[in-house]
Amino acid sequence: MTTEAASYFSRELLHWYLANKRDLPWRMNRDPYRVWVSEIMLQQTRVDTVIPYYERFMEKFPSAAALANAPEPDVLKCWEGLGYYSRARNLQAGAREVLTRHGGIVPDDKEAVSALRGVGPYTTGAIMSIAFNRPEPAVDGNVMRVLSRYFCLEEDIAKPATRVNIEKLAASLIPEGSAGDFNQALMELGALVCTPKSPGCLTCPVMMHCEGRMAGKEHVLPIKTKAKPPRRETRIAALITGSAELAGKLLVRQRPESGLLAQMWELPHVLAPEALAAAAPAKRRGRGKPAAAVGEASSAAGFAAADDGVMETAAGLELAFPAEPAANHADGGVLNVQAAGAASTDRRSAMADFLSRALSAEEGLLVRPDSWWGETDHVFSHIVWDMQVYRAEFGFWQSEAAGTAVGSGGTGEYPAAASEALAAYGEGPAPANYRWIGPEEMRTLAFPNVFVRILQDYWRDLD
Ligand code: SF4
Repeated sequence: MTTEAASYFSRELLHWYLANKRDLPWRMNRDPYRVWVSEIMLQQTRVDTVIPYYERFMEKFPSAAALANAPEPDVLKCWEGLGYYSRARNLQAGAREVLTRHGGIVPDDKEAVSALRGVGPYTTGAIMSIAFNRPEPAVDGNVMRVLSRYFCLEEDIAKPATRVNIEKLAASLIPEGSAGDFNQALMELGALVCTPKSPGCLTCPVMMHCEGRMAGKEHVLPIKTKAKPPRRETRIAALITGSAELAGKLLVRQRPESGLLAQMWELPHVLAPEALAAAAPAKRRGRGKPAAAVGEASSAAGFAAADDGVMETAAGLELAFPAEPAANHADGGVLNVQAAGAASTDRRSAMADFLSRALSAEEGLLVRPDSWWGETDHVFSHIVWDMQVYRAEFGFWQSEAAGTAVGSGGTGEYPAAASEALAAYGEGPAPANYRWIGPEEMRTLAFPNVFVRILQDYWRDLD
């Protein structure tokens, strides 16, 4: 790298940015809280998508104190649709730290900023440079791409050592007194011109000295080893409809307080065992015919199927099922999923079987699936949910005694006590994390995208 190429890059890039920068809502001023919120929202998310969310969020939570004091469900609701919900939780936790440790003002202090929950090296650099004009680099994937191309760097950007070197390089390029503008200029060039698939070299403000372009490598740089593809798992979800005073409502549940999508709302769903997942329909996405019957999967007599075998639920509980409707057997049979695939009229019947049985065993919830409704994907960074959705009629909640007995049988044999309890099918109260909702209530609860899509489609079809 020549000094001339480096100083040319800094000068021309800054000049271009000041003349061409987009008018974005987080550029209205340099309030560090506003910068912080925007940078968190922009992680993994396109600018166009973020803008309306950002405006709503800032209106509702205009300061770190307002965010810190808000109920978490309100924050999640405001974030609904943006995905990666741990960002919202960490942002609120960080705001609480700002309130308690720094009097509600994001401090002009790199160490203190980097110590906030959810704030990594990139966000620290962005806040310190954009809000306080400190000469700190802010290096994300966009910036690594631009610098790899301009300086023709052929190191693997997936390696931490490469990132460290690029951070040093980026810091060395910051023009005195213009850290905020320069870092935003780098991000802007990566977003608008030096894009991943089609770098616009002909209109690029730094094309004259771009070493990657001159070497004809603008399309092969940056070098990045591929990450492991996300694991795919099939989940079977239930659109459980109520009747009588619950007619028109659907049963939803709230996820646990910690872990993936913590505290968000969802349709009840279960993880399909591998044998059943492998047999899932081809990867078409979309809606099924409303009346796609699932066969005689679940008998009206017992909300349970009549196959014999064993299957394991997400909770690791092996379910054993009666060969006769539940009310008629106390000895307990065993349901085999592979066998179910062969014995059932079709795979959807097997899935519907599994859904009703697993909800019964895991949740004490008795339902009767009556039709396949549709399928869709939900992509996380490490996992993809292949969501198979079934319509189901609500039966009832098992009594506490029945639920306890089923839950205690984790080793494969269906305990006699559970069989007896199931045979009795005592009706119990709904667990506290379940709720019946209509479209109005849906607007007050935060759901992950996949369930927003399903529920919106469902309500729309009813209109
Ligand atoms: S000239 Fe092309 S490859 Fe080089 S920085 Fe500009 S857009 Fe990227």
